[in-house]
Amino acid sequence: MAFLEINHLKKAFGTHTVVHDFNMNIEQGEFVTFLGPSGCGKTTILRMVAGFETPSSGQICMNDLDVTRLRPNQRDIGMVFQAYALFPNMTVRENIGFSLKIAKKSAADIRQRVDEMLQLIKLPQLADRYPWQLSGGQQQRVALARALAGEPKLLLLDEPLSALDAKIRVSLRDEIRSLQRKLGITSIFVTHDQEEALSISDRIVVMNEGRAEQIGTPFDIYNYPRTRFVASFVGTLNQWAGQLVDASTGKVQLDGVTLTTSRLPKSAASALTLALRPESVRLGEGGDGRNTLAATVEDVNFLGAVVRIRARIASQTVSFDLFNDPHQPLPRPGDAIKLNFSYDNLLVLEDAPAA
Ligand code: ATP
Repeated sequence: MAFLEINHLKKAFGTHTVVHDFNMNIEQGEFVTFLGPSGCGKTTILRMVAGFETPSSGQICMNDLDVTRLRPNQRDIGMVFQAYALFPNMTVRENIGFSLKIAKKSAADIRQRVDEMLQLIKLPQLADRYPWQLSGGQQQRVALARALAGEPKLLLLDEPLSALDAKIRVSLRDEIRSLQRKLGITSIFVTHDQEEALSISDRIVVMNEGRAEQIGTPFDIYNYPRTRFVASFVGTLNQWAGQLVDASTGKVQLDGVTLTTSRLPKSAASALTLALRPESVRLGEGGDGRNTLAATVEDVNFLGAVVRIRARIASQTVSFDLFNDPHQPLPRPGDAIKLNFSYDNLLVLEDAPAA
């Protein structure tokens, strides 16, 4: 039995359905991220799990208990929002202890628990400050401590990092993950940032227009996106319309060039969407010798650690990355080049090519 079971969850606002038949089991201690663009329904699912929103239909079970109709305070959850949502007229200590006070814990118990939480978020010296005397990152750590103070069984985080600047975002992201591991608390995290999702999650749910488009580990989502949407969202730059040549040998055609893939489904249609990550491409001939493309360099973009190059192959373009090496001359626009890549890295997506 999974810790959290979400079955056939639907939500409509009036005639507008924003979550369609969402199903997922989440294990005890798992860190799951809902990833998707604005408006895809990820917050609405989180709010239904929290009890702030009532599903139009479907069921949510926690620890084998049907919580679908329970109020938020009956669900044993902690929640952290994007806007820090601390009580402005309360000190850090009072904010963290708030839920314990509501639960009528003794003053001594509250003090002890708040002290533990302050240690956990490494801010014991700020106990008597007010929220306006804290940085954004500190406020969000206090919000996290407040959410965890009552020892909830489930932690829900709704874009908790998106209001912070880039450096703090990365360090707080790592802190959240290590705290979550230490406490072993089952967590759901919402973000539209793919790098954040890849770095923090045990599993990612990629959402598109109210549907789970793909659920998998960061490794699988990144390396083996199944659809055009998932591939685009996790940054697979090369997506091409290709044709099936021979399913039994994995032969496909791109712009008149025959290529080989190990990833062709048995039931492949004749019009295929091929995808290739920029870092899967090598300059020159070689590799496993199965896939070589002749191309002409169009654009060279120096990014630091990598150099991203765009080149043309007949009617389509290919983007690929070279590691920066100051001793290697870079290709220049107009250069005729050869590219190779492994047949394992040439992906075949499930949906038809873009029109
Ligand atoms: P964001 O990243 O912008 O928060 P999201 O993926 O979390 O986006 P939701 O907030 O779940 O998306 O919203 C999904 C859809 O539901 C949107 O089209 C939104 O306008 C709509 N929606 C959300 N709440 C309501 C509401 N109370 N009444 C009507 N429509 C709503």
